[in-house]
Amino acid sequence: MFILVINCGSSSLKFQLISLPERTVAAKGLVERIGLGGDAMFKMSYGETKLPSSPIKASNHTEAVSYVIEALKKDVLKEGQKIDAFGHRVVHGGEKFFSSAVIDDDVLKCIEECGKLAPLHNPANMAGIVACQKAAPGVPNVAVFDTAFHQTMPPKAFQYALPYKFYKENGIRRYGFHGTSHKFVTRAYAEMSGKPLDEVNIVVCHLGNGSSITCVKGGKCVDTSMGLTPLAGVVMGTRSGDIDPAIVLYMIENLGIAPAEVNKILNKQSGFLGVSEVSSDMRDVEGAAEGGNAQAKLVLEMTAYSIAKYVGSYVSLLPKTDAIVFTAGIGENSAEMREWVCGNLAGLGLELGEKNRERGFAGCVSAPSSKIPVWVIPTNEELMIALETYELVSK
Ligand code: ADP
Repeated sequence: MFILVINCGSSSLKFQLISLPERTVAAKGLVERIGLGGDAMFKMSYGETKLPSSPIKASNHTEAVSYVIEALKKDVLKEGQKIDAFGHRVVHGGEKFFSSAVIDDDVLKCIEECGKLAPLHNPANMAGIVACQKAAPGVPNVAVFDTAFHQTMPPKAFQYALPYKFYKENGIRRYGFHGTSHKFVTRAYAEMSGKPLDEVNIVVCHLGNGSSITCVKGGKCVDTSMGLTPLAGVVMGTRSGDIDPAIVLYMIENLGIAPAEVNKILNKQSGFLGVSEVSSDMRDVEGAAEGGNAQAKLVLEMTAYSIAKYVGSYVSLLPKTDAIVFTAGIGENSAEMREWVCGNLAGLGLELGEKNRERGFAGCVSAPSSKIPVWVIPTNEELMIALETYELVSK
């Protein structure tokens, strides 16, 4: 079965055609600059072939999806093969979705309602869904939510100590994000370690441009570092992570900065970029720190410390932690960041081994003497979306 995994932004569409149950990627690519005036740009790779970025006519998501489907039919799918289902990344599922869902009118309406909580993301995700429904009538569409894995959090973890009506009437609570990645890594840990999924107790550190830490007990999320929005938690590429909320008021009331500008400062100009004044990209910041840049070094220390504080508190919530697992761009690739995080956790008796320095290694990277094993597991959100879609449409 071929599943086309779709991840739509407001002007972009990333796709992967995944064959299941083989779990092989038949093609992947990207359409950019959709609806910005002028041509959109399309690129795709399959097998040994890498098509360079080229201009196409796609003034909306429907035209972009149609183009992608035709390109796949022409170059990738063989006689008798077809796209059997679409799997869509949807950022916010609110409290409505504990799991992925086959999309019908009711589900689409719910996704639209959840758009209040993710006004930049859900409308773009919906545009992708509607585009697929129009371009390929009759082919099932499945929504896979970034928030769904975290819906098992108990109220004591997801409530904010605000007047209760803000939760009841406005849905203000912790939702958490990167759930597809945290779920994938949790399942992968179960498979790789041989532990039954419902006995897995781990702390997952998804460290990418955006980062979140999740406490998994019995295979389920019991707490996570992101909140109502992806701004909360640890220090990230351009996001501040946790700050005293009164800073926001101080900026507005005492410094006269407009709310929209404060939003931009916290989401786009803070984190690695804000403190280092070098870059939002970990590789650049590490490079600058090695070259002696004190602010770059400082933000790396702050990042490791902020991650360690979450890991430490989550480990202490679990009866026994099977592993601390690192994933995503930084978590998988930066041996240094793993060392710094573990170095901050003096009380946990963590000891990294030689494997920590082995590039591309997946599995346990701690020394046998480490009191808690430390693992690296590459995430694969597209595969997780394809697997969820496959599961639902095969029923
Ligand atoms: P996204 O959240 O956009 O999916 P990724 O998971 O791809 O992001 O992570 C991107 C981050 O990973 C960037 O900060 C990048 O610098 C970092 N990264 C990628 N490769 C390396 C590496 N070899 N060493 C250190 N950091 C890396």
